[in-house]
Amino acid sequence: MEPISLAELVRYTWKYSDFYRKFWEQHGFNPEKDFHGDNNLEKIPILTKEDLLSVPLKHRSILRSRDCHYFLDISSGTTKRPLVILKPYHAMSPYFRFIENLDKGLRSSCLILRPPTYATAFLGAGLQGQYFPLGSLISLGNTNDLIFSAYLAKETETDWLMARPSDAVRFATILEQQGYPPSNIMSLYITGEPLTLAAISLLKRLYPNATTLYVYAMTEGPSSMGLRSSLCATLDVISPSAYHLDTHNFFFEAVNGLSVVTALHKMPTPLIRYSTGDRIIIKDDVECSCGFPKGTIGIIGPRAGEKSYKIGGYTFQTEEIRRVLQKLSDLVTGDFTLQIEQVADSARLLNLLHFVIRPVNNPTPFLTQIIAEILEQELYVASSQLLGDAIRQGLIKPIEIGYDTAFKGCSILPPTEIMKPFHNTEKNAIGK
Ligand SMILES: [Zn+2]
Repeated sequence: MEPISLAELVRYTWKYSDFYRKFWEQHGFNPEKDFHGDNNLEKIPILTKEDLLSVPLKHRSILRSRDCHYFLDISSGTTKRPLVILKPYHAMSPYFRFIENLDKGLRSSCLILRPPTYATAFLGAGLQGQYFPLGSLISLGNTNDLIFSAYLAKETETDWLMARPSDAVRFATILEQQGYPPSNIMSLYITGEPLTLAAISLLKRLYPNATTLYVYAMTEGPSSMGLRSSLCATLDVISPSAYHLDTHNFFFEAVNGLSVVTALHKMPTPLIRYSTGDRIIIKDDVECSCGFPKGTIGIIGPRAGEKSYKIGGYTFQTEEIRRVLQKLSDLVTGDFTLQIEQVADSARLLNLLHFVIRPVNNPTPFLTQIIAEILEQELYVASSQLLGDAIRQGLIKPIEIGYDTAFKGCSILPPTEIMKPFHNTEKNAIGK
């Protein structure tokens, strides 16, 4: 499962993928004429998620091998039509191997605390990629039942936990209550949500003995694209979303400030110049406090044009907010910004929401109260959870509402610390 050369990947794809052949032909690219080596990478047309979504899974997948299984993975589901991808394995990232060597002997029982749909590829493709040491135990927890998951952790003496940052934080308290203190966890694998400094510092405090790996990945890829660890003080200073990029398994390009990746693997759906939509700043020759060999890092910003943002276990969507504000159309317009921040409060990770809304007339304290009430009672922040429920559970602070009488558009702004390195780029908001 070592990467192949770009030339081999292009030849393989041209030969076996009807989808790519058609796509490249439509864009006037013929590798037999136009591609003579890595220097010609820029001649290859850029592929988007919409291009992949425009055809059924079967028509864009090369499933020739009878020597492997294909595990289903799905993109995070913030869109109505999640992208379904098949993969036979997860390729090993050099940074993962680096931390694994430091952690030698400390990973004997792994608990995967992820929704089952995501755990399929995690487990299957992870096993094929030798992510789990031979002789180790593997168990699947349930994100909807942390008490039961803590019981499993105790029974299996879990020392290696895989979870989203918000779930890992919540789980620490439950582990403690169920008599299996989080100090038993020696290794944490954190994925699935944007990371803030509040989450990083809380995880350090709650899991004092763990080496933590933070993962920047996308469903479509054969391995994580970037990793950082709790040893990366250098990256902490740069940004909570700075990662050691996996330049072993991928080519990274920044095209108009957005990350375009090529995965050097014969995946069922190959990724050649695939636009991830993520903002990225790439820096070469960075030396980090963790001791990993000097190399390329990427500072990852939020996706451009995305109309939703997932953080702290919740999803905020512009359409959903508009739907609720519509009910007050005599009082407010559909123009708003939602600025999300994350803070640590004792052993909890809290989302703070600052709404700025354009009112129809002059705002009054009564209007503020009406807006706050309707958002709490009617805005869904998870598939079956309302904003008011999350506030009552103490996971989102009561919303703050402000007004701007001239503002137009609607946007969700990620935490300031994540946007900071991108302040010089032309467009900061998502979903505008
Ligand atoms: Zn590092």
